[in-house]
Amino acid sequence: MKYISTRGNAPELGFEDTMLTGLARDGGLYVPAGIPQMGRDDIAALAGLSYEDTAFRVMRPFVGDSFSDAEFRDLIERAYAGFDHAARAPLKQLAPGHFLLELFHGPTLAFKDFAMQLIGQLFQHALARRGERVTIVGATSGDTGSAAIEAFRGLPNVDVFILFPHGRVSEVQRRQMTTPADANVHALALDGDFDDCQARLKDMFNDFAFRDAVKLAGVNSINWARVLAQVVYYFSSAVSLGAPDRPVGFTVPTGNFGDVFAGYIARRMGLPVDRLVVATNQNDILHRCLNGQGYFKGETRPSISPSMDIQVSSNFERALFYAHDGDGRAVAALMDELASGGFTVSQGALETLREQFGSGRASEAETLATIAATLENSGELICPHTAVGVKVAEEMRDPPVPMITLATAHPAKFPAAVEEASGVFPPLPPRMSDLYERSERVTRIANDLGDLQDFIRGHVGA
Ligand SMILES: *Cc1c(COP(=O)(O)O)cnc(C)c1O
Repeated sequence: MKYISTRGNAPELGFEDTMLTGLARDGGLYVPAGIPQMGRDDIAALAGLSYEDTAFRVMRPFVGDSFSDAEFRDLIERAYAGFDHAARAPLKQLAPGHFLLELFHGPTLAFKDFAMQLIGQLFQHALARRGERVTIVGATSGDTGSAAIEAFRGLPNVDVFILFPHGRVSEVQRRQMTTPADANVHALALDGDFDDCQARLKDMFNDFAFRDAVKLAGVNSINWARVLAQVVYYFSSAVSLGAPDRPVGFTVPTGNFGDVFAGYIARRMGLPVDRLVVATNQNDILHRCLNGQGYFKGETRPSISPSMDIQVSSNFERALFYAHDGDGRAVAALMDELASGGFTVSQGALETLREQFGSGRASEAETLATIAATLENSGELICPHTAVGVKVAEEMRDPPVPMITLATAHPAKFPAAVEEASGVFPPLPPRMSDLYERSERVTRIANDLGDLQDFIRGHVGA
């Protein structure tokens, strides 16, 4: 299996190099050169399998010869062993024809664990075999950083440094990053905001001498291996509701477009997905774009669903690539325009996108009201990101086709908004109930490239 860049001007790579590289050298994102197909019989045969067995069958064709069958099975087992629900991604019924796919039973209570836990295992295995070490540096506004720390903590061939904006993440998010005691984990509280964290991260990747010296690697949401891991739960949930005989719809609370793009891949592989709906909060660039208003950056407005507060959805580039029939030059031209503010999508490409993706948005008030209404109608307490999805799904669903809304985080991760909406303070799951008592380890650091690089050089392989 070969991977090609969305901008058509980078070397083709196999799965393992695609995963270890992250971003392509022409600035593009890697996509598979062809999309493996699962026929009706292959999909029907998933019925009754464990999550891990389903994961093996869905992902195997994408991995090529990077891992043997036995190795890949073993790494999948390890990735999901720490989840606290035997089904890994259980479905819960909210209303007739409307289901929640609970993706928050992993170690950091958000769906990012599905991909991070797997790539932690895949990275470690590949690096140990090559006799290499890497330094993973990430910037986070909350969920990605803790998921990366949980995935890479204690792994012998990896050091992980996570930058987060000092004083601007929730207490649960901060404690999830600062309480793991492993020596290869470093939580860095930067004096600045999330944009500063991202800018310093970019600076480090652009400093080639530094990048090579510490063997910098990235695991942000554009990493193809992360997208791939997320394809699995579209299959497992659709099959439990009757696929391939019955189509299902999905609504996905969306920020960087990685999760919903995984649903697109599932459909392209042959899963009968009816509607695939992008749900945004008040930062609605994707909703506006799919409504024909072009893709233009504005100001990010902080919301109660902070993991969806984005201006530019990095994985949307992959959808644009397919909407332009794989024309890398066309994608590269659009990305140049984006650098100076935005672009309009051509009529043909827009029609293709609109055939593939529906969209909707939820305001802050609508999000709060949906948390309250869902508790009242179904007894379920949902997080604000999930509430954005539930609100949009209710508008977009098409009975009798069942709609599955992805529940992207546990309500206890965002207790303030949940309590404001519902009057109920969501408790942490028992295995984490001592999070507020664990001791923290964090380094406060200036918003200064030199200081950051010194710290990282001084702590790799420590
Ligand atoms: C990251 C995240 C999202 C957005 O997912 P994308 O793949 O970036 O679209 C939604 N909800 C939660 C809780 C998240 O952590």
